[in-house]
Amino acid sequence: MKNIFGCTKEYLEGYFLDIGEKKYKAKQIFDHLYKKKNCDITNISNIKKDTIEKMNNDFSFDFIKICEIKKGKDVKKYLFKLNDNDYIEAVLMFHDYGNSLCISTQVGCNMGCAFCESGRLKKRRNLDTYEMVEQILLVEKCENIRISHVVLMGIGEPFDNYDNVINFIKIINDDLGLAIGARHITVSTCGIIPKIEEFTKIGIQVNLAISLHAPTNELRDKLMPINKIYNLNDLMIVLKKYSKITNRRITFEYILLKDINDTKECAIKLCALIKGMNAYVNLIPYNETENFIFKRSNTSNINAFYDILKKNGINVTIRREFGGLIDAACGQLRANKGGK
Ligand code: SAH
Repeated sequence: MKNIFGCTKEYLEGYFLDIGEKKYKAKQIFDHLYKKKNCDITNISNIKKDTIEKMNNDFSFDFIKICEIKKGKDVKKYLFKLNDNDYIEAVLMFHDYGNSLCISTQVGCNMGCAFCESGRLKKRRNLDTYEMVEQILLVEKCENIRISHVVLMGIGEPFDNYDNVINFIKIINDDLGLAIGARHITVSTCGIIPKIEEFTKIGIQVNLAISLHAPTNELRDKLMPINKIYNLNDLMIVLKKYSKITNRRITFEYILLKDINDTKECAIKLCALIKGMNAYVNLIPYNETENFIFKRSNTSNINAFYDILKKNGINVTIRREFGGLIDAACGQLRANKGGK
């Protein structure tokens, strides 16, 4: 049975037409669920009793459950239990510009990046759209806040769950839904080219981030298996098309791994690779985990890398770090509850 929080407004419009109701009822449902924040439709005033009863039979109104909340400085990590007893995590960050939630898109991940904790559990399944929407709803309710920014950078590869992710974006971006501005939503991908091509065409102004992490195929092959399927040359061609068509700036995420991809040569090659693109580079100090041998670059290397990019006219920032102490930082989320 379809969960109501996984329905886009268009889907509900179709549903109402199918059952001989007026299309605009979908708007009333959205208003009730997302604006009035009332998850119980039993007493919604402007819809007929019969229709409500039918909806109660046709849709599930189940919620995933908050299992544990860990607090750090300016950050909280939520562990959720799904209705089939799997676990996922989301990370809430308090910024001066608003509250941002980093959500998961899959249970586990199949991308197999050599450095990432989240991928140690192979993908068990995709998250349904409602399971992504509810991560936001539950955090908003629990904290009594509004989430203003959403990043799809938790567990999972969003473009390996493309259709559900796009529906999720439509629901949270809808003016009558959570009304989170497209420019406040960021999808991050390791580089699944056919989906980037589709994403180029959908015409929503959502930010696209690419987990790059290496400037050559030789090195990227070793760190990110996806590169053996979709290599850097092809990736860059598709990204240039994306930029041209959408006029949007691309973010390149680049984790700095000591003595692996943090050398001057790598910095220079990275400049050459992205020169002239409408892009900026977000350098991520690596968060070490006990399960991998990789080490974080030292500060002088990070700064030297940054300087080379700057001098070459590349827009670059070093990511502000959140959540390291509660294992809520990039690459530290995992889908097995409290497991090692
Ligand atoms: N699968 C998507 C979404 C995950 S985003 C993607 O690859 O983009 C999570 C980001 O954190 C990715 O850029 C990932 O490469 C990065 N990351 C993974 N492990 C990390 C670690 N230990 N320290 C810092 N960043 C890490």
